[in-house]
Amino acid sequence: MTLGSGAMPNSFDPSAAAGLPERDAGLVARRRRALGPGYKLLYRRPLELVRGDGVLVYDRDGAEYLDAYNNVPCVGHSEPTVVAAVAAQMAALNTNTRYLAEPILDYAERLLATHDTGLETLMLATTGSEANDLALRIARHATGATGVVVSAHAYHGLTSAIAELSPSLGAKEPLGLHVRAVAPPDPGEDAATAGPAFARRVAAAIDDLERHGVRTAAVLMDSLFASDGLRSGPAGFLAPVAAVARARGALFVADEVQSGFARTGEAMWGYQRHGLAPDLVTMGKPMGNGVPIAGVAARADLIERFGSQVRYFNTFGGNTVAIAAATAVLDVLERDGLQANARAVGAYLLDGLTRVAAGAGVLRAVRGAGLYLAADCADADVAGRVVNGLRERGVLISAAGPDGASLKIRPPLPFTERHADRLLGALADVLADPATEG
Ligand code: PMP
Repeated sequence: MTLGSGAMPNSFDPSAAAGLPERDAGLVARRRRALGPGYKLLYRRPLELVRGDGVLVYDRDGAEYLDAYNNVPCVGHSEPTVVAAVAAQMAALNTNTRYLAEPILDYAERLLATHDTGLETLMLATTGSEANDLALRIARHATGATGVVVSAHAYHGLTSAIAELSPSLGAKEPLGLHVRAVAPPDPGEDAATAGPAFARRVAAAIDDLERHGVRTAAVLMDSLFASDGLRSGPAGFLAPVAAVARARGALFVADEVQSGFARTGEAMWGYQRHGLAPDLVTMGKPMGNGVPIAGVAARADLIERFGSQVRYFNTFGGNTVAIAAATAVLDVLERDGLQANARAVGAYLLDGLTRVAAGAGVLRAVRGAGLYLAADCADADVAGRVVNGLRERGVLISAAGPDGASLKIRPPLPFTERHADRLLGALADVLADPATEG
């Protein structure tokens, strides 16, 4: 098996359901009937998880798994401060943004203070897709243009406007005629040339759009290029791209849905590693530790114009409970020094991965920024065997990239060196298994 265009790496093959334990096979069949074919499961033997605690999750039989994959519970599964804040707010009141309330203002000011100066206003939504959709609307409103440049295998979300600028969805979800997809730097590309070369490709894409009568509204980039298979370095390569966008009258939108909230260890936001000043920043996933909240931070003038001319109300976006969750996330990130932890433990894990890779032929390039790491395998089959071998040994990771051949490691941030050792031990064991290489 190699990964078909648009297919999800590491997804369960429903035709293998007959080989599962009776309860699992039954649930798979009910899912297929009740939810249809669109809902994918992870792993060859899907998991029925019932409880989480920090970086550990437990299945229905009480078996423990080290979660080295889920970034949404960024401060840990079932984190007590978040749980208490959400429960207390839910018991008190949950309303929308059409009433006066101080917590949303405290949160907005506190979140904006973590961004660079120039990003002075926050609008709230519930998902990363909505945040990107809103950012696109703001960019189009500001520029009067429609074109968008993205990376070659980008994923930015599920609305129809955003799906048509998400090439990783594959050929069945065609790119819009106003969209151009540009290859990001290869892993390990030289620091001095990667940025300027990427910026030239983006400029050529803007030229091509113009030749087709389309002006560019936005250059939209995930600061970690997660679905491109993780292009974590060299930090700085995105700055020339943002400069080209600006010079050509387009806005630069940093999609921080993957790279935000201290994930890279070096900074709170991925764009800060690149030393660039975005016009708009979109955030989501870890923002509420699992409670749906997302946002767009932007230059005040952009939101001033958009907000006074266009009606935008998001029923659940920034509701009282979501704000309580998001505030607790910032509290725990700060209290537990999770950015510094991501940097230190991420470096430790990268070091260990590099060592394990050097001792086995299966893993090729290894890379990472903080607690977001990747290692390339020969193809999706090999990556699948590594991922599933780890799952059988109680460690959860997944695969990513255009061909599904890159291991994707992205644990909750309270991951310690002890957890890293457990992952590395299990990985060495999987790589030593002759069946892994195929
Ligand atoms: N942007 C990026 C970079 C993402 O990875 C994702 C989700 N994987 C999204 C946007 C969309 O977020 P959501 O699923 O919350 O709509």
